[in-house]
Amino acid sequence: MHELSIATAIVEQAGEIARADGADGVASVTVRVGELAGVVPDALHFAFEVARDGTALAAARLVVEQVPAHAWCGQCAEEFAVGMPPFFWCPRCDRPSRELRRGRELEITGVET
Ligand SMILES: [Zn+2]
Repeated sequence: MHELSIATAIVEQAGEIARADGADGVASVTVRVGELAGVVPDALHFAFEVARDGTALAAARLVVEQVPAHAWCGQCAEEFAVGMPPFFWCPRCDRPSRELRRGRELEITGVET
């Protein structure tokens, strides 16, 4: 379950951000997770509850913002949703695309203390 190592990293980074702000605890942490980041939100929530134990995030809430995966079609100069499982084929011009624009995000976007 690699969500646990991700949750641990989130707890550590959010804790550092809070400390830099001079706060003792974290109320909530928001993460942006792309559809293709390989992270299961339910598993991440569960892992977070384990990882936050005994840290500055012990009472923190985890907010997961999911980002749908989008690829870029140069022909149409537009993004299209690749879906899940991903299908890199532009639905407008019926051509393949290899350029993923969104969907691999895995980042902390907010820490509330
Ligand atoms: Zn196209």
